[in-house]
Amino acid sequence: MRKRSALRPDTTVAPAGEPHREVYVREIPTCCIRSLKEAVLGTVQDRRSLALGCSCGREWWITSSLDERVLERFVTHGGPRVNGGFGDGPSAA
Ligand SMILES: [Zn+2]
Repeated sequence: MRKRSALRPDTTVAPAGEPHREVYVREIPTCCIRSLKEAVLGTVQDRRSLALGCSCGREWWITSSLDERVLERFVTHGGPRVNGGFGDGPSAA
């Protein structure tokens, strides 16, 4: 079993409005990772958020994720590689 508190590393994000600048979530500032974790692991919201806002002022779009908890919390903004479906990410168990 995976630890429930860990985010999957295959989540990618991009600065809001700039989906072509997509990066893996581990590459963003620590404060933003923490904000993402809090959003994902925190209270369930009625509707998905369009973007992740951090107290540092940055705003991120989730461009893709294989983590159901991320997908439940955020609308994904497809980057240039997205062609209509999930399922082509890292598959190592
Ligand atoms: Zn931040």
